[in-house]
Amino acid sequence: MTDFYIYENWTRKRGAIHYADCSYCNSGKGFQIEDSGRNGKWHGPYSLEEAFCRAATMLNIEPCKSCKPLPPA
Ligand SMILES: [Zn+2]
Repeated sequence: MTDFYIYENWTRKRGAIHYADCSYCNSGKGFQIEDSGRNGKWHGPYSLEEAFCRAATMLNIEPCKSCKPLPPA
């Protein structure tokens, strides 16, 4: 099953939903060392449905423009 992660950025009050294998996600490890815990937090892994469901409870979470996860039908 494909896993999804949500990155929540506290300082910018926004975030994105990613496929686990997205290069920006790296299975929830992210791509910038300075991002590890200070500016935000990775949530997951989730199923597609759960990722979008949880994203709806956070501020300004959008599907990643790189890996483009689609909302569940
Ligand atoms: Zn992504």
